[in-house]
Amino acid sequence: MATLISDVKVILTAPEGINLLVVKVETNQAGLYGLGCATFSYRHLAVQCLVEEYLRPLLIGRDVSAIEELWQLMHQNAYWRNGPIENNAISGVDMALWDIKGKMAGMPLYQLFGGKCREGVPIYRHADGRDLAELCDNIQKYREQGITHIRCQSGGYGGGAFGPAPATAPRGAAHGIYLDSRTYMRDTIKLFEGIRAKVGFDVSLCHDVHERLKSIEAIQFACEMERFDLFFLEDAIALEEGKWLRQLRDKTRIPLAQGELFNNPSEWKTLITDQLIDYIRVHLSQIGGITPGRKLQLFAEQFGVRTAWHGPGDMSPLGHAANIHIDLAARNFGVQEWSGTEPPNFVIQELKGPRDALLDVFPGLPAFENGYVYANDKPGLGVDIDEEEARKYPCENVVTTWTQTRLADGTLQTP
Ligand code: MG
Repeated sequence: MATLISDVKVILTAPEGINLLVVKVETNQAGLYGLGCATFSYRHLAVQCLVEEYLRPLLIGRDVSAIEELWQLMHQNAYWRNGPIENNAISGVDMALWDIKGKMAGMPLYQLFGGKCREGVPIYRHADGRDLAELCDNIQKYREQGITHIRCQSGGYGGGAFGPAPATAPRGAAHGIYLDSRTYMRDTIKLFEGIRAKVGFDVSLCHDVHERLKSIEAIQFACEMERFDLFFLEDAIALEEGKWLRQLRDKTRIPLAQGELFNNPSEWKTLITDQLIDYIRVHLSQIGGITPGRKLQLFAEQFGVRTAWHGPGDMSPLGHAANIHIDLAARNFGVQEWSGTEPPNFVIQELKGPRDALLDVFPGLPAFENGYVYANDKPGLGVDIDEEEARKYPCENVVTTWTQTRLADGTLQTP
């Protein structure tokens, strides 16, 4: 008897105050269900509507085993394709179908992807600090936990807090996070001089530009940053200005990572085939889940491009687990961003309640130990959800302000 989809549900929860969206696919086999990450924290109600009102009726009664068929069915059903709301909704179902596939096979997903290339996944953590001393303290704390790759930042990607326009902005300029790219570049170069002087070169450092420079500034900045021997420079060029990567590549030998905003294969194909980047770091749910993620990983392998999947806090533990399962089996794995669902002690102390809550809501999430993250060996993704616990932390729908970044004259700048 075929195993059929009997229901598709959305579970919303915010155990850490960040909106997370999980899709649960139920089947006609008692106790057999799958879970997937459809988290788009800043448009969660739109994704919920899409799953409940459009995907659910499309999917009920279909065979769970036909993942590729169902992915294409969802992808093509609305005629227009590849939007972030659509892709996240599809991802929720896609990951849940892979979770079911693993449960039916009695295997963790990394086994279905060919088995482990490595026993644990090396991760990088993001270190911040108000000044050099605080940042270096945080780097040291991570190093004591065995972490060898650390992304460094100070001063919120060149901006402050959301608020009224500064006095230097034009009369009537809107509220926002005001950026000054020249100051940011100077401060960051000084910061890395300080970090290398203090911690030496025996640690891999990354830096995220977060698309907050003009492309020509990014080239100047990358050339200056070369001497700090970065593991990679992240999102130096904005999504819309991807062609500048060719010039950046020609002018610097700094390793480049790109892609957490990508939605669509047309955004990464040329970057990979022309070897314009070293690390592809898409957000799996944003591109539609495990099915397109695995295709991308294997495609990148053919061109010597490594993976460094996006792994931020605004991603559910199901999404983190999907990253880890692909990483374990990927020959062209580079490094994994890890926002700390299995948090280091100093973070637990600062965020006692909420961090514990994440563990309560999502039993089975991948575990961090001494610089590596490990998947558990349960079938599928290995992460469950306690729906009663999840209900204790309702999502909130508020106007997003951190994305309202502005240049000195008040013009909106990509966040
Ligand atoms: Mg980034």
